[in-house]
Order: sequence, then structure tokens, then C-alpha cells
Amino acid sequence: MPLRIIRNDITKMKVDAIVNAAKSSLLGGGGVDGAIHEAAGPGLLEECRALGGCETGGAKITGAYNLPCKHVIHTVGPVYRDGKHGEPELLGSCYRESLRLAKEAGCESVAFPLISSGVYGYPKAEALRIAVDTIGEFLAENDMTVYIVIFDKTAYRIGEKLYSDIEAYIDDKYVDEHSDGIAERRRRMLFARRDEIEEDGICACPPPMLGSAPAAKPMAAPMAANISLEDAVGQIDESFSEMLLRKIDESGMTDAQVYKKANIDRKLFSKIRSAKNYKPSKPTALAFAIALELSLDETKDLLMKAGFALSHSSKSDIIIEYFISHGNYNIFEINEALFAFDQSLLGA
Ligand code: ADP
Repeated sequence: MPLRIIRNDITKMKVDAIVNAAKSSLLGGGGVDGAIHEAAGPGLLEECRALGGCETGGAKITGAYNLPCKHVIHTVGPVYRDGKHGEPELLGSCYRESLRLAKEAGCESVAFPLISSGVYGYPKAEALRIAVDTIGEFLAENDMTVYIVIFDKTAYRIGEKLYSDIEAYIDDKYVDEHSDGIAERRRRMLFARRDEIEEDGICACPPPMLGSAPAAKPMAAPMAANISLEDAVGQIDESFSEMLLRKIDESGMTDAQVYKKANIDRKLFSKIRSAKNYKPSKPTALAFAIALELSLDETKDLLMKAGFALSHSSKSDIIIEYFISHGNYNIFEINEALFAFDQSLLGA
């Protein structure tokens, strides 16, 4: 089930449990801890007093008092020194232990802040990487919706190198499509119109007199002129869900492996599975292409079945193309990057 990265104040989250980045005394502090106690009211501190603190990497659960969630899970993140004092293991343990308690309490949805990334000084890109990887491992085995709640944009950083690589890729592709001179644009429009007409099979116009212009796209197999409408409709291609199910079979993965890898929840997958003509949203269709590790061309084919295209006029499409062309099919990493560039995320 899915992992979502969202921007919000965690005290506003209407989920089964929110996680608090607490101090080991569990007696409140600044940052997210202070905000949670303030919104929950004094009852939370009373209950925390009785818990006798918590070790770093551990977690304890309480009620939520005036908060809109049902439980608060208090976990103590490591203070970052240099990364060589067990910090990654301890931070991973915070997420694992919190999720274990949430599962025990029957929670279906949990929201985390980016633990240790504030006063405790964990570098944000690394803190996020550990959060995403640890939650991802848990979700591969468990059904739950997990949110990573980012409070402010500056609290959020993907790795600098990845960020600048993607930025360069966007520059390259995006500029390509947006820096055309007027003449070039006009030429493209002429050709685009010609393609449209030819694909409709109505008219083969003479090519415009433009010496260096590229050849028009080859036509799709034309439909016989004397075919009845009924027969024509009968020739309809494989649908999106048919292609998806075929690709899943060919991949050797189980349905569950694919929808989890796609960050799609089980209910939506069942809908797609049972409705031959289901029309998914573009993020859903793309999420399946990523889960199935399709090449760029195969991705375009699958998208086309749902009536979509990959376009260099869209930043998010270029970011996804970047990951596919680099053979990186980790949907959580792709979503991290989409989030960093203010784009909507993949999955349901
Ligand atoms: P730590 O001591 O574990 O570093 P902090 O509370 O200082 O904990 O910060 C952890 C993260 O929580 C930071 O990235 C900070 O931006 C974020 N944060 C602070 N307030 C909120 C809030 N109300 N909702 C969600 N995240 C928050």
C-alpha cells in the first residue's frame, strides 16, 4: 500500500496515528514535539509522564487527546554527529518500531515527520532516504497508508547531485521544446496538421515546400474504406487493463508485487483488473509502467492505451523520463524527486 510525501502540519493530519519526533524523556520539547503537545493539550503530557522515557531508536504509543488522529507514537531519533556512530541504524529503527506499534494498534494510516532532521541535525537528504527506504520495506510486506509530512519546503532536500542532474536534464529537454523560433514553430504546426490529416486516412496532402523538413510520420495501418462502423469498432485494440495484465504475466511478478511497487492500493488495482475498459489517471498509468520497469517506448505504448502521452512540455514527464532512461525504477525515489520539483506524485 502506498507511501505519500505531502506538505502539511502533522498536527492537522486525520490519520490513525501520527508520529512524534520526541526527546528521550518524552516530556515535550520544541519543533514538531512542541507543536504536537500544544495541539493535543495537557492530557498527552500526563500520559507521557507515566511512560518512563524511551531509548533512542525505540517508540511508545499514547492516546491523541485533542488531535484529530487516534494515537500518537513517540519515537526518539538519534542526534547526528558524523553518521559513523550508528545514526542510520537508529533512525531506521525509529521508523520500523513506530510502524510495528502502529500495526499492533490496528492502524491503517500513519503520518511521520522527517525524524531527526530538525534540531537533531540529520542531513535532510540522508534522513529522507532512510525514511523512504525503511517505510518502503515495511510496505512491501504490510497493507498501510504511510505519509511523510514535510512541514516547510526548506525542510526538504533530495541529494544535491540528483537534484542538479535532474535540473540539467529538464533544462536540456524542456528548453528544446520551448525555445523554438517563430518559423520553426510554424513549420512544426504545418507538419503536425499534416500528420493529423494523414492519420485520419482522409487526405494525403502534398508536402509543403520546406527543403530540410523531416519526413512526416508513417501512417498507422489504414482502415479499409468500405468497412462498416460496427466492424470498425470491433477492431478495437487491446485496452489499458488488458495490456497491463498481459505485461504483469510477462514480467513474472505477482499482482501484489506490481501494485505495491507501483505505490497503488489494492482496491484501485482490483477495479482496474475487473474493468476491461478502465481508464486510469496518467499518474496511475505511469506508476504501473515504472513498477513493470518498462522501457521508454513501452511506457509510451502503455500510456497511449489510456489516452496519454509523455511530453517534453511537462516537467513531471521529463523527470520520469530521466529516471526511466537511467534505469532507476524506484517509485519512491521518483516521487521524492517529483516532490522536490513541485510536481504531483505517481501512484493512486
Ligand atoms: P528532531 O529533534 O528529531 O530533529 P524537530 O522537531 O527539530 O525534531 O524536527 C523534525 C522535523 O519536523 C523537521 O524537518 C521539522 O521541519 C519538522 N516539523 C516541525 N514542525 C512540524 C509540524 N508541525 N509538522 C510536520 N513537521 C514538522
